[in-house]
Amino acid sequence: MARRLLFLFLCLSLAATAAAEPPHAVAITFDDLPYAAVPSEDDAQLEAMTERLLHGLQSEQVPAVGFVNEAKLYREGTLDPKRVGLLRRWLAAGFELGNHTYSHLSLDRSGLDAFEADLLQGEIVTRLLMQSTGKTLRWFRHPFLHRGTTPEVRRQFQAFLAAHGYTVAPVTVNGGEWIFAAAYAHALSEGDEDAARRIGAAYVPYMQAVLAQAEQLALDLFGRPISQVMVLHANTLNADHFAALAAMLKQRGYRFISLDDALRDSAYASPLGSSTLEGESWLQGWAREAGLRPPAEPPIPGFVTQWAGTASLKGY
Ligand SMILES: [Zn+2]
Repeated sequence: MARRLLFLFLCLSLAATAAAEPPHAVAITFDDLPYAAVPSEDDAQLEAMTERLLHGLQSEQVPAVGFVNEAKLYREGTLDPKRVGLLRRWLAAGFELGNHTYSHLSLDRSGLDAFEADLLQGEIVTRLLMQSTGKTLRWFRHPFLHRGTTPEVRRQFQAFLAAHGYTVAPVTVNGGEWIFAAAYAHALSEGDEDAARRIGAAYVPYMQAVLAQAEQLALDLFGRPISQVMVLHANTLNADHFAALAAMLKQRGYRFISLDDALRDSAYASPLGSSTLEGESWLQGWAREAGLRPPAEPPIPGFVTQWAGTASLKGY
């Protein structure tokens, strides 16, 4: 018996040695902190959602970055310590926070001056919180991935970011996760657990299809897998399904890396140019620069968009 166990152990060890490091790497980022689509804004529920999400990230040792809209820290014009407490939880769990503007403005719609003012208004609390844990605020994520409509605006905004110590957090894996999240939150708020279960069950296969498109674009453009950057949102859907999402990623050969490590991939030195359409990912933008047309996003099941309803028109 002992000999058989030893043999088994040797086989397993050999298999582990033979398996090289997974070829795929992904950095996971969360937008719209402290929370996006939730069934209720009740303090206890927001805390529970945050705890579940952070626990899921810690279980998989995901070095995530969370991007904050500080407008959501205020209730009736007053800074709400409970909402700030949600951000403290992210930091206490070892994660980094970034700036996603104060009120989730679009650079393409608001004009550069208003946008920059909103960005600066959006760093006040986060910068202090980061400092209190010995970290420096340094990441910026464009709301809606709107990056400016003219080369001049993009150039000026880039100079502004550099002057304020920010690095842009790109996105290469971007889909309709927020539509699933709106649907899921709506179903839960109506008490329809069966619908919520069906929405949750459709979510991970959908994300797999989104990921497959990003992988194919990377192969078409670079001839190899690149370090991907995935955007998700701090919502109940991910709090309840991150383990399933992580299982899918690992099954496809992914390991989780930091945003810093992802950006060490030389792909990110590629110029985005001006052919990117509004709201497209970096990969989609690089594809257009190369004269390729990125594929349409995978279809979202009708029952999901129905449950999302008008929420799906709000965007992220
Ligand atoms: Zn956002």
